[in-house]
Amino acid sequence: MFFDSLEKIKEEVLNCRRCSLYKTRKNPVVGEGNIKAKIIFIGEAPGRNEDRQGVPFCGKAGKILDELLEAAGLKREEIYITNILKCRPPNNRDPEEEEIASCTPFLDRQLRLISPKIICCLGNFSTRYIMGNFDFKNISGISRLHGKVFYFKEIRVIPLYHPAVATYNPQMGKILEEDFKKIKKVLEDEAKDSYIKW
Ligand code: URA
Repeated sequence: MFFDSLEKIKEEVLNCRRCSLYKTRKNPVVGEGNIKAKIIFIGEAPGRNEDRQGVPFCGKAGKILDELLEAAGLKREEIYITNILKCRPPNNRDPEEEEIASCTPFLDRQLRLISPKIICCLGNFSTRYIMGNFDFKNISGISRLHGKVFYFKEIRVIPLYHPAVATYNPQMGKILEEDFKKIKKVLEDEAKDSYIKW
C-alpha cells in the first residue's frame, strides 16, 4: 500500500522538475506547520523572500499574515501554511495553468494527510482551485467571495483576500482583519459542534 507522509512530499518537491519553474527557483517552498492542524492556509506561490529562505510567507505579506492570524487568535504553530505553487514564478508573475496542474497534486496530498476542518484560501488562485475541487461551479472572483464561509460536508472553506493586497492598498487591511475575525468565530462554533449533544 502507498504510504504517504509530509517528509515524502518534501523530498519529491525538492527534486521536482514537473514544470520549468525548477530552473529559476532558488528553493522550493513546500509548506510549514502542524500536521495535526485543524486549519490550513493556502496562498498563491512563493515570493522573493520565500524563494530565498524556503519558508512560506516570510516576507512582507507574511508579516501582514502574522498580524491577521493574531486577530483571529491563531499562532503559526497551530496551523499549516502552503501554496498552490511550490516554486516562485519569475518576477512573481501569476501562476500558469500548466504549472498549477503540475504542482497541485502535491497540495492534494498535503490536504489528505493533514485533513483540515477549515481551509482558508488566500487570494483568487487558491480560492478557484479549492472551490473547484468541491465542484463549486461559477466561481466568482475573490471580491465577491471573501469572508464567506462555505460548508462542503464536514469541511469549511473560507475565501480571503491575499494579505499582499494590504501592502499596496492599506484600506484592504481592515477588510482582511474583519474576515480573519470570522475565522475565529468559525473555530469557536467548530469547538461547540464537537460537544457531545445529549
Ligand atoms: N505570497 C504567497 O502567496 N505565498 C507566500 O508564501 C508568500 C507570498
